Amino acid sequence: MQVHNWCHQCGKVWWEGQPGDGWLFIEISRGPGDWEDADYVDAMFCSQEHASEWFLLPLPEPEPSVPYRLTWLERLTGLAFASAVGSVVALACLGLLTAVRFLAQHP
Ligand SMILES: [Zn+2]
Repeated sequence: MQVHNWCHQCGKVWWEGQPGDGWLFIEISRGPGDWEDADYVDAMFCSQEHASEWFLLPLPEPEPSVPYRLTWLERLTGLAFASAVGSVVALACLGLLTAVRFLAQHP
């Protein structure tokens, strides 16, 4: 999703950190019902009056959605995390088994 930091009706710029009093942000989706496949139009307005003026005009064409693809670093990170979780579970089971055996041999 691309965020535009200016009023889409008058061009007034909204700076990061500036109070957002009176500013409006809208997101319009268009697509086949499933939000993951929908196209989105994002727009920002300095006032409700400018938003309503903008809605009187034909809507711009939405930007086509681009499917997200994992990078190799993200895949390696996921694999390392899954391996770490699997190791913790395996060691916990081994510890529990050892404790049960110890208690069975030393009542
Ligand atoms: Zn405006």
